[in-house]
Amino acid sequence: MRHITHFVGGKPWPHGTTRHGEVYDPATGRVAGQVDFASPSDVDAVVAAAESAARSWREEPLSRRTKVMFAFRQLVDARRDEIAAVVTAEHGKVLADAAGEVQRGLEVVEYACGIPALLQGRFSENVSTGVDSYSLRQPLGVVAVVSPFNFPVMVPLWFVPIAIACGNAVVLKPSEKDPSAATMLAEWFAEAGLPDGVLNVVHGDKQTVDALLDHKGVKAVSFVGSTPVARYVYERGTQAGKRVQALGGAKNHMVVLPDADLDAAADAAVSAGFGSAGERCMAISVVVAVDPVGDALVERIAQRIQGIRTGDGRRTGCDMGPLVTGAHRDRVTSYVDGGVTAGATAVVDGRGVQPDGDPGGFWLGPTLFDHVTPDMALYTDEIFGPVLSVVRAASYDEALALVNRNEYGNGTAIFTNDGGAARRFQHEVEVGMVGVNVPIPVPMAFFSFGGWKSSLFGDSHAHGADGVHFFTRGKVVTARWLPHSGMSLGFPS
Ligand code: NAD
Repeated sequence: MRHITHFVGGKPWPHGTTRHGEVYDPATGRVAGQVDFASPSDVDAVVAAAESAARSWREEPLSRRTKVMFAFRQLVDARRDEIAAVVTAEHGKVLADAAGEVQRGLEVVEYACGIPALLQGRFSENVSTGVDSYSLRQPLGVVAVVSPFNFPVMVPLWFVPIAIACGNAVVLKPSEKDPSAATMLAEWFAEAGLPDGVLNVVHGDKQTVDALLDHKGVKAVSFVGSTPVARYVYERGTQAGKRVQALGGAKNHMVVLPDADLDAAADAAVSAGFGSAGERCMAISVVVAVDPVGDALVERIAQRIQGIRTGDGRRTGCDMGPLVTGAHRDRVTSYVDGGVTAGATAVVDGRGVQPDGDPGGFWLGPTLFDHVTPDMALYTDEIFGPVLSVVRAASYDEALALVNRNEYGNGTAIFTNDGGAARRFQHEVEVGMVGVNVPIPVPMAFFSFGGWKSSLFGDSHAHGADGVHFFTRGKVVTARWLPHSGMSLGFPS
């Protein structure tokens, strides 16, 4: 059985830990490893190591920071299959999907390679006679990143490269469900030449996160996870005087207008609904079929689901893996049970799936419900599994109102051939990331990623310009080098 421990000051750090968690292989259901959980005193020691590293790292020239970033980029690029295999072993998603998240994370590393340009300030000459003004952005010090189970590589890489390139030291607390990839990233950063202590990984649970939220040495927290925890992290972290961005859960709607290409829409609904077994914050979980396309669309989606092979993500030919834990599988299954009881039509029921894998795995096949109504738990709750609901709407206005009434506002998509309708939708919808005939509109690294409403607490989105802004603070210098002109108690004007 694997033992996964912290990575602090440039090396594995098994000290102090008394609590542990179990890490599963979701495709077999067996415990594959044990991960150490950091206590508050462990966190004290880690933050102290990071503070010391942050003091010297901020003095390193931009050229040295980018050199490390380029070297890290090369390592991840060359070893993408190795880290993807680790993701599949602990998360369960199929290898191609794991490789996809590595690629999206790599794009943020590439963005961070451009940090000299991204950190440039502004300069105004002669703001007064002989006086110049210029702005700088400087690092915060030690920042914490707390990440969810569903993207063990991509989500840490949304933040870590930018935070480091900006001159901060990082304490990364990955999900305890699939912790190994984070440690691997830290080892590769060290190999790329990052000085010891600039990137540290502590494993743990709520107790570990609370210690980071309360620690005076931690200046900012980037969190990604479920909405109740995101709200809590935002409140506790800001109360402790920190800068916090907390990205939460989602319930992403895909609106299909009557003039849409229904085959393209069905392909998109199935890919975005069941990819990664629906365990994506940008997964489509509700298809809003605008009359009269409902029957034709449901038929096409159901046909395509028959072709999905559920099984061990390591096996060739499997499209969809297991859920991450047995408890999560049971929770998702309870929504399927509840949907049937509530009167939704189970067009495809994944509960009886015959997986291409070990019978002990955490399996649930793709499930499609039609005639779901907004009062059903299937609709109101984030299920985070392979369960796609179809809600019928009489018009564009009704569909839009449904999306806008929803508590979440992470991603949404509209499928249509009408440019005017698409433009109206992008303007009117209250959601942070919008796709037009694109079901999972995850912004590229040079844009920022973030939702609205209960999908994000704080005002900075992840990566892109927002990321650089989040991990730095502004300073404006006003300078005079001419002989001084005497004393004046007046306000400078
Ligand atoms: P989670 O909220 O259970 O855990 C996220 C992190 O918080 C983990 O590191 C965990 O150890 C820690 N944590 C858990 N409970 C805590 C508590 N009570 N106090 C402090 N810390 C705690 O989320 P998850 O199940 O790992 O991930 C899935 C969720 O993340 C889904 O809701 C999904 O929508 C969301 N997500 C959102 C985005 C986004 O960009 N908005 C991206 C990925 C995932």
